[in-house]
Amino acid sequence: MDGAARTVARDFTALYGAPPEGVWAAPGRVNLIGEYTDFNEGFVMPLALPHTVVAAVRRRTDGVLRLHSADIPGPVAELDATALEPRSGGGWAAYPAGVLWALARAGHTAVLGGADLHLASTVPTGAGLSSSAALEVVTAVALDELHGLGLDRPALARCAQRAENDFVGVPCGIMDQMASAVCVPGHALHLDCRDLTVRQIPFDLTAHGLTLLVVDTRVQHALGDGAYAERRAGCEEGARQLGVPHLRDLPYHALPHALARLDDERLRRYVRHVVSDDHRVARVVALLASGTHGDLRAIGPVLTEGHASLRDDLRISCPELDLVVSAATAAGALGARMTGGGFGGSAVVLTQAADAERIAAAVHDAFADAAFTAPRVFGARPSAGARRLRPAS
Ligand code: ADP
Ligand code: MG
Repeated sequence: MDGAARTVARDFTALYGAPPEGVWAAPGRVNLIGEYTDFNEGFVMPLALPHTVVAAVRRRTDGVLRLHSADIPGPVAELDATALEPRSGGGWAAYPAGVLWALARAGHTAVLGGADLHLASTVPTGAGLSSSAALEVVTAVALDELHGLGLDRPALARCAQRAENDFVGVPCGIMDQMASAVCVPGHALHLDCRDLTVRQIPFDLTAHGLTLLVVDTRVQHALGDGAYAERRAGCEEGARQLGVPHLRDLPYHALPHALARLDDERLRRYVRHVVSDDHRVARVVALLASGTHGDLRAIGPVLTEGHASLRDDLRISCPELDLVVSAATAAGALGARMTGGGFGGSAVVLTQAADAERIAAAVHDAFADAAFTAPRVFGARPSAGARRLRPAS
């Protein structure tokens, strides 16, 4: 990590002719359980990945915003920080520019002085591992510290989400930005998406002889393609017909009765998924909180059940994600599910550490047999949220 910080700082200096004032990192995330629950004001349980966006930043005073990514070929993007227009395109630069815009809109006008920013990332892009949130959060944390704004992490996550929703124009809940902003190593984040209350839940896989594999199917998801908005509108309509502000307000024990009151089969499926996934988050938290060897393994079947709900009720899976789950569980995994927005992206597989290699090979073989593009598989370690790398604090 220190090597990455040094490289990014060096490249910043070469690009802009002066050293950065600091270097920050923000991670991508993988969600263990609780999918499409965040915008229903429900519960999620992500963990931060060791993969990060590392950004070097220096303040300016002339209102110019200069942005460069080591991962995107092309010259430095130069924008007028005082005249940023939402949804005006601009490719990747819209994510960091949107954060500056959102901070200024929230009254933190010091950021309008502008900045120079250069970044490099190890978060796979478009794999459902939230490279976009990592990019937003690293920008938010850097600008907050440099300008002494004093915002807490949930406030920075809200600004990052506003950048993605209102400036870039991608509808997303708050999970990704919160995970990148507040996760701590060795823990999963139990997040209440209504009031952003967080509970850090010990999730020490190694101590329990377990491995969490992330399988990137290499199928590129496109959240903006309308399916996400359709599910979201369906959930809101379900809540309206049931007379609750959000589906979060429907207790699990009331689900059968609520479903019987809905005429529309599609809405019934969406409501059943959201309410049962909120319940699955609670079940996983209870199992992890009790912390015994057997209980940690016991979350496996809950994950697999969550996949069935996403596949059959919310209908956001795809053949590749379904194949990860079926191949991994057939090979002896404790549990598996798609994670993130769906229609591609990644899945998580919980296995005994001793079985991880064999199960990864079984997934690779199944993909080869189906003539799918070879997946990328890696082990996820619950890692740190956003932080400053240089100068060391
Ligand atoms: P995900 O967040 O699942 O990775 P998104 O489509 O939400 O996928 O976000 C990916 C977008 O974020 C990219 O298309 C690009 O605009 C931006 N992005 C991510 N990583 C980088 C990077 N290293 N450099 C520049 N832009 C990036
Ligand atoms: Mg994203």
